[in-house]
Amino acid sequence: MTATPTDRFAFDLHATDGMARTGVIHTPRGDIRTPAFMPVGTAATVKAMLPESVAATGADILLGNTYHLMLRPTAERIAHLGGLHRFMNWSGPILTDSGGFQVMSLADLRKLTEAGVSFKSHIDGSKHMLSPERSMEIQKLLGSDIVMCFDECPALPADRDRIATSMQLSMRWAQRSRDAFGDRPGHALFGIQQGGLEQDFRAESAQALTDIGFDGYAVGGLAVGEGQEAMFGCLDHATGVLPVDKPRYLMGVGKPDDIVGAVKRGIDMMDCVLPSRSGRTGQAFTRRGVVNLKNARHADDPRPLDEGCTCPACSNYSRAYLHHVFRAQEMILGMLLTWHNLHYYQTLMQGMRDAIAAGRFVAWEADFHAVRAQGDIEPV
Ligand SMILES: [Zn+2]
Repeated sequence: MTATPTDRFAFDLHATDGMARTGVIHTPRGDIRTPAFMPVGTAATVKAMLPESVAATGADILLGNTYHLMLRPTAERIAHLGGLHRFMNWSGPILTDSGGFQVMSLADLRKLTEAGVSFKSHIDGSKHMLSPERSMEIQKLLGSDIVMCFDECPALPADRDRIATSMQLSMRWAQRSRDAFGDRPGHALFGIQQGGLEQDFRAESAQALTDIGFDGYAVGGLAVGEGQEAMFGCLDHATGVLPVDKPRYLMGVGKPDDIVGAVKRGIDMMDCVLPSRSGRTGQAFTRRGVVNLKNARHADDPRPLDEGCTCPACSNYSRAYLHHVFRAQEMILGMLLTWHNLHYYQTLMQGMRDAIAAGRFVAWEADFHAVRAQGDIEPV
């Protein structure tokens, strides 16, 4: 292992097992152990969690959403107040998305041109513009440690012409993002591979990005409705054409089995709202699959959600209590289940990091699926 100065961004790959990798991303704000799961702090908060609680689950890095923050409270206001880390009281690394994906999925009256995307806010109808240059400016104002290129991607399925046109536009925007980002030691800029499920476009996109040169590479445009089998099929070749010595980030993924399959295929970083969003609706992720606390079978169950879990929800509360606070619509339901779900995800990542380092990922994965296949414990 080489010593790395802490004032710059660097990736040390420690071990590989098949395509799966484990290592550490060094940033001036702290190390990120990979494979890493990044909880999503959309509006400068991981909903229902204090930042120190998020850190206690084992998260090394959070994700913030440019689209939401630019509209409310605005990037300029956050910059004026000392940047996103100080504003939300999270001292570790933060990755921000470019806003591109959420503009296309949330905003009204979008108009896409070579220059960028103009749109109306879904909050108050105000008019805004996002371009590669404006996205870089906003992410700089926020103080993001890992900045994402501004890109565009079609929903799948889409025809080859539409995918090619979109990918080529994203590659021109990647160059403009690189130019606008400039030289910022300690901060990283990631390129985003596009190309839908088309193998040749994925390779072409990877080459274009590698020619420009980035600190990391995301696989974009997946988890947009194509299904797990198609996503894995795409990842089977999409990661292999990206540089070996830089982090690879699969955006917006996913369920636990999606994450395991992505790591198996060479992905180092992931993010998803699922553990926090599901927690607020009474769904818990466990080693034995999804448990729905809404279900009346839990009403008299004195046992913890998962007796093997060390999180506060499992250490101190029964299934009966979690079911009760779901029924009573108490806020503690979201607090406890978000904590549990994030803890479960981080435990999953640690299990994979250990297995890859020990060269036993295949056995670990078989065990992961075998325990899930048992299903939830029998009712009392
Ligand atoms: Zn738990």
